[in-house]
Amino acid sequence: MCNYVNMLFVDYLLFDLNSYFASCEQQDNPALRNRPVAVVPMLSDSTSVLAASIEAKRKGIKTGTKVIDAKKMCPGIQFVTTSHRKYLEYHEKILKAVDEIIPIDQVLSVDEVSCQLMGTQRELSKAIELAKKLKSHVQNTVGICLTSSVGLGPNSLIAKIASDMQKPDGLVWIPKEQIHEKLGPLSVRVVPGIGEKTEIMLNNLGIFKIQDILKLSPAEARNKWGSILGTKVLQGLLGEAYLYEHGATQSMGHEHVLEPELRNSAGSFSVAMKLLNKACIRVRKNHYRCGSMHLSIRLVNKEKIEKTLSFSPTHDTGLLMKHLKTMWPERFQAKPFKVSVVLSSLSEK
Ligand SMILES: [Mg+2]
Repeated sequence: MCNYVNMLFVDYLLFDLNSYFASCEQQDNPALRNRPVAVVPMLSDSTSVLAASIEAKRKGIKTGTKVIDAKKMCPGIQFVTTSHRKYLEYHEKILKAVDEIIPIDQVLSVDEVSCQLMGTQRELSKAIELAKKLKSHVQNTVGICLTSSVGLGPNSLIAKIASDMQKPDGLVWIPKEQIHEKLGPLSVRVVPGIGEKTEIMLNNLGIFKIQDILKLSPAEARNKWGSILGTKVLQGLLGEAYLYEHGATQSMGHEHVLEPELRNSAGSFSVAMKLLNKACIRVRKNHYRCGSMHLSIRLVNKEKIEKTLSFSPTHDTGLLMKHLKTMWPERFQAKPFKVSVVLSSLSEK
């Protein structure tokens, strides 16, 4: 008979692709494999690296490294211009592969999904087995270069932090009982949603490490953050029920049910542009930049067209409008009914 007293359980699994954009490029072009590769917006010394391959990261190159510096740090590095269509194609294939092993609870970004474990999947040995199977299934069916790190934890926030702890090709489990010991000594910066601005704000209040957050009461956390977000982060770090979303304030977006005269491609597009403009104003007001956009169009026949695009973080309305244009469907199977535009992957820089 099972000894439930000693049985260890896992509630969430977070699957995160390593060096995603660069890995897609290496998958697509075998000549780039096992070599330092940097994905850049354009081939120019004045730009910065959007994504570095695992080999380039070993040389100290990361997102934001200037191309001119990357060349000095790693002579022979290969530069590839970004191709969002390609990353989205892989994204779709990856979602399908993950779904063949375990149902996806939340798609958090182009390279990150969270899954809630159910029934016997929650048993630690089964959860680890599932994580290993998931990692190899994605590599076997989508591409060998698509390595991943999996985090297991009591909620998706802890699972996300766990997935960040071992890269590349990681598998880390943090049980609720070990949160203080394993995460306590780490900087608050490792918590998803705590960017540079929030880190400075917390440091000024005497909060430097995760253990400083864990000592707070829910009311104190709310006061320190100046919003309910503080309580939410505290609950998440305590391993309690938590809905992890990508980005500090997660996302900013708007939706609109189309008036009958706007239920066509041109009409719905003009509404989407207005919604984007509104969201963009909010992003700028809050001193953020966004790194991805999600477009959702519900049709009168209840079908839904959904597209996500990731890009170099920006708050430039003109640029975002160009991105929206590339995402816009060429034709609709039925009349559009409702449009939603959401900007996410928000960063403070
Ligand atoms: Mg990743």
